[in-house]
Amino acid sequence: MSTPNNRRPDLSIDGSRLRRRFEELNEIGATDRGGVNRPALSDANKETRDTLVTWFCDAGLDVRIDEMGNIFARREGTDDRAPVLAGSHVDSQYNGGRYDGVVGVLGALEVVETLDDAGVETYRPVEVVVWTNEEGVRFQPDMLGSGVYTGQFDREYAYDRTDKSGDRFGDELERIGYRGETACVADDPYCYFELHVEQGPYLSERDLSVGVVEGVYGFSWLNARFTGAADHAGPTPMHLRTDALVATADVIQAVRRLTAATGTDLVGTVGSVDVSPNSINVIPEEVELTLDLRSYDNGTVDDAVEQIEREMAWAGEREGADWDLEEIMRVDAMPFDEDCTATVEAAAEAVGAEYMRMVSGAGHDANYLNEICPTSMIFVPSEGGVSHTEDEYTEWEDVVVGTDVLLQAMLAKSEER
Ligand SMILES: [Zn+2]
Repeated sequence: MSTPNNRRPDLSIDGSRLRRRFEELNEIGATDRGGVNRPALSDANKETRDTLVTWFCDAGLDVRIDEMGNIFARREGTDDRAPVLAGSHVDSQYNGGRYDGVVGVLGALEVVETLDDAGVETYRPVEVVVWTNEEGVRFQPDMLGSGVYTGQFDREYAYDRTDKSGDRFGDELERIGYRGETACVADDPYCYFELHVEQGPYLSERDLSVGVVEGVYGFSWLNARFTGAADHAGPTPMHLRTDALVATADVIQAVRRLTAATGTDLVGTVGSVDVSPNSINVIPEEVELTLDLRSYDNGTVDDAVEQIEREMAWAGEREGADWDLEEIMRVDAMPFDEDCTATVEAAAEAVGAEYMRMVSGAGHDANYLNEICPTSMIFVPSEGGVSHTEDEYTEWEDVVVGTDVLLQAMLAKSEER
């Protein structure tokens, strides 16, 4: 049995092998403008899965597919202990980018092959995982594969999700041949790491290669409504109007003021506005809007929600409109496991990466995994903060450094007793 060994600075991944795989995988569903179009359970998604399974088998890994189509590929350890799990997803947005998800899956495979090349035996098994339907563009909600695995959703609930053309998730999973035999339940991983592109601008602005991710923002989603009075846009004098859209504009401005003024990490978005009757010569009678408020501090989100409630009341009063505000979803900020995060940080130092500790503004499969096992993430820069588009780009050297950090982190954890 090998002795615990948290550092193997002599080991590093093969960046050109990783790159070959990256380019080959991204030929599947490639778009003219340099992106990929591989929504969950599409034919292109199936082809991506088939290619990965072939590579996993070629690497001598033991592949199992669960009832949600999550793919696990295992490299045995010297002891039959809970495995160190790492991976991400390969479904994409419609006309999405080449890096989102792919980097984490291929990075984990590259780690395994690096261990093989160097003849390294680990105490714990190491597993690569590919989660189903992370993006949530074809089937909602997102992170459905890891959600069922970690007990957030029932399997049957997931199977009954339908896409816009009415195709059921369960039927599509069956159609592409990835409704596996293994029960989709958490089988007690020792820990989970996910390498992912940042999808925000912080690393690229600071010219850093790696983000050591210590947690994920919490958020509040709100539905709001103003009800005024429809009337003719010509004969109705300004002082007699109750315009629901003018009240809405006040609230949109308030979100900007609030996020600028608090000196916190609060971000806020009015992402959807539905005006009725939405006609050029009719005063808007009713407006439905959505608000998305996020921070790593739950109290900051609480305060923002209260402030928005006051802003709604003021705007309604000024305009003489009725108003209504409802919180439809609330998720607390989630710190990742401190020990896993420290492991990633030590790995970044061992590799000599330029890094910073940071918090993720977006959700990932890692959020759900953190509920059942110690978890942390490694970010690599998204140039210009751009993601979920065909223009998504990460410098290849940063992908290599990030994968080296993943290697050292997985090695360290795979030796823990
Ligand atoms: Zn992703």
